[in-house]
Amino acid sequence: MQTTRPVLSVVVPMYDEEDVLPIFLERMHPLLDGLGLGYELVVVDDGSRDRTAALLTSASADWPELRLVRLLRNSGHQAALSAGFQLARGEYLVTIDADLQDPPEVIAELLATARKDDVDVVYGVRSDRSSDSWAKRTTARLYYRLMCRLVGRDLPFDAGDFRLVSRRVVDAVNQLPEDGRVFRLVIPWLGFPSAEVKYVRAERAAGSTKYTVSKMFRLAFDSLTAFSAAPLRLATWLGLLGGLLSVGVVLAALAIKLTGRSIPGWTSTVLAVGTIGALQLLCLGLLGEYVARLFQASQRRPQFMIGYDSLEDPGHHSYAE
Ligand code: UDP
Ligand code: MG
Repeated sequence: MQTTRPVLSVVVPMYDEEDVLPIFLERMHPLLDGLGLGYELVVVDDGSRDRTAALLTSASADWPELRLVRLLRNSGHQAALSAGFQLARGEYLVTIDADLQDPPEVIAELLATARKDDVDVVYGVRSDRSSDSWAKRTTARLYYRLMCRLVGRDLPFDAGDFRLVSRRVVDAVNQLPEDGRVFRLVIPWLGFPSAEVKYVRAERAAGSTKYTVSKMFRLAFDSLTAFSAAPLRLATWLGLLGGLLSVGVVLAALAIKLTGRSIPGWTSTVLAVGTIGALQLLCLGLLGEYVARLFQASQRRPQFMIGYDSLEDPGHHSYAE
């Protein structure tokens, strides 16, 4: 085991990527060696069922910086990233997809920007999404709009999970006890000084997408529930609305009864259904409020993050040497 910290950890989650793996390794190896610094390439094999792990094991024979971590089962992209965050030892950490959509050549630029601007986060931002379909662009825009609202911060638009973070950020993320982390929301939320580097996102180099529709929904739901209890509170509003409606219906039913044109039993049925329905929704809403509080408490997010304290060495977080 290496005892000194490498300068750079490159974390790559992989799920059934045997098609793209040879091209990936071929492009990555000279590139990382050429950076001229201590690095490790941490590949998190997210329970692949194909030859991904076998190929990696044989590649690591003449590539000591290649480190393979295998998860026992397919845990999802974000969970694989979490594993990478916990295991990486570098002073800087870059996360990148295996499919070469994010050009590895940009890694050097991310690192240079972090050092030059002395920032803790450098986002890779897609300067051009014309290669994506209209549907993908529209849903992505909606997603980012909504998430900006929820997180209450300007999120870098069109930033995926290609980014560089400093050790400070890695430690801060690892201390968050919450499950179902969505990195692209949690990292901006922490609020470390950041910069952006624009790049053109390429097509997948080989193989097919590992993001099934159900995994995309998972990400959307995780994003929504991680920063908002609005869905839980929906019942409260529905209850209030239902309550108002049923008052109207009950009054109407009574009026009809007074005119004597009502069928026997109809008024009492409408009354019972209306009030019980509204009461149930209101109680559900009330429960939702408590569950929301419990949920927020269980996330145990830090109340604040200290960016600078004059007692400490002001340059303590700079790894720029
Ligand atoms: N991935 C993963 N676990 C999964 C799904 C995907 O580790 O369950 C990895 C995948 O191998 C790739 C990255 O996450 O390195 C992004 O996936 P993909 O490129 O298929 O997503 P897309 O670009 O199509 O949104
Ligand atoms: Mg991809």
